[in-house]
Amino acid sequence: MTRRYTPGAFGASHRRPPAATVSVAPVPCQDTMRTVTVDCAHGTTTLTIAEHPSGVQIAGQAAAVIAVQRHFAEEGCACTAELRRRYGVAP
Ligand SMILES: [Zn+2]
Repeated sequence: MTRRYTPGAFGASHRRPPAATVSVAPVPCQDTMRTVTVDCAHGTTTLTIAEHPSGVQIAGQAAAVIAVQRHFAEEGCACTAELRRRYGVAP
């Protein structure tokens, strides 16, 4: 988790921070691993998914749901509202 938000950083005309984003990327030189990152002005949550033949397969959308849930739990900010709606994450 990386914190980089500073109060007032968005200025009076931008009271609401930009919406959080989610991205999925392969891990270099690791064919069976990928990272899911949820990023907003308050912090970054990174989840590393490692696939194994005897493990549970986690589809891209399920991985995004987990990452959005974790980010919301860690940051507790409203930046993930759109992502939570998109992926059906409560509340
Ligand atoms: Zn945020």
